[in-house]
Amino acid sequence: MKSFDLHAKRPLLIAGPCSAETEQQTVETMVALAKTGLVDVLRAGIWKPRTNPGSFEGIGVKGLPWLARAKELTGLPLAVEVATAKHVEQALDFGVDILWVGARTTVNPFSVQEIANAAKGSGAKILVKNPVSPDIDLWAGAINRFVKMGFDERDLGLIHRGFSSFGRGEYRNAPMWHLAIEMRSRFPQIAIICDPSHITGKRELLYEVAQKAADLYYDGLMVESHIDPSCALSDAAQQLTPADYQTLAQRILWRRKSADNPEYINALERLRGQIDEIDSELFALMGRRMKIAEHIGEVKRDNNVAILQSDRWNSIVDKVVSGYSGLGLSDEFLRRVLDAIHTESINHQNRVMNK
Ligand code: PEP
Ligand code: MN
Repeated sequence: MKSFDLHAKRPLLIAGPCSAETEQQTVETMVALAKTGLVDVLRAGIWKPRTNPGSFEGIGVKGLPWLARAKELTGLPLAVEVATAKHVEQALDFGVDILWVGARTTVNPFSVQEIANAAKGSGAKILVKNPVSPDIDLWAGAINRFVKMGFDERDLGLIHRGFSSFGRGEYRNAPMWHLAIEMRSRFPQIAIICDPSHITGKRELLYEVAQKAADLYYDGLMVESHIDPSCALSDAAQQLTPADYQTLAQRILWRRKSADNPEYINALERLRGQIDEIDSELFALMGRRMKIAEHIGEVKRDNNVAILQSDRWNSIVDKVVSGYSGLGLSDEFLRRVLDAIHTESINHQNRVMNK
């Protein structure tokens, strides 16, 4: 098999239906996508692990010849989701170039290992979606299983599709960008691709998430597209017609990693200097704050008073969140920072208490 290079082009654009449903839907969608000239890889789900039974669970192996047909007509490589060794064998038999591990499979080390064993030595490239739960070690562990089986890091990719979180957020799956950024620093050689379709769950929101990924220097996108989204058997609300996909792909501005003009370099150096200075003040202040917390620990210890004083803490949180909203900092950020400070402060007090 002529092997596809995940790093041959930036951005790497992957598009196609959530599910292959019929031969006509699959081939028409893929041919129309190829005609945009803005697709490098065609995707489709053949086996669909669904959260609820009774949802469309995929057409199965019957759909693979449709994909092979689309590949023949367009000359574009194919990507398919696999969850078992059997899926791997069947997909490879039909000339699938890229196998991806879905979010519900990445959570299961047995399944990931089974896929790695089956795909070893095949020349197929592997993309690993983030697990549904925000567990970065599970995501990293899945990548490490492929590395251990002898896959080169350049032949692996990460797909960031967001994480389930309790309650209804703005998006179907919370992006938690910091986790994807952390994965990129753990695996700097591995391409990272954003899947705005599964993050947003809604086509109207695709652009803002896709553009953010481009701003963060992601290597590409995976976007769901269906010839007639309103009739799609899965993920209808998030799929785009090929024409709307074209509009989206043309609109996204891909950033350069760097620029070499002197104005840019000077401005960046000056601003980074300011940031470094502020950071050093910020942490010096944090250190002072913790010293005071230790004194409080001593006073509490000498009077046999408990460390945690919830009323006092709640009043600090209220004061900060309502009082400093004018600084342009989000409530979420203020709460997170306060939470980290509080935990550190309790640890300092605890040490003093039990000296
Ligand atoms: C998909 O890509 O169609 C899919 C099922 O995605 P995920 O594994 O991210 O839910
Ligand atoms: Mn889908």
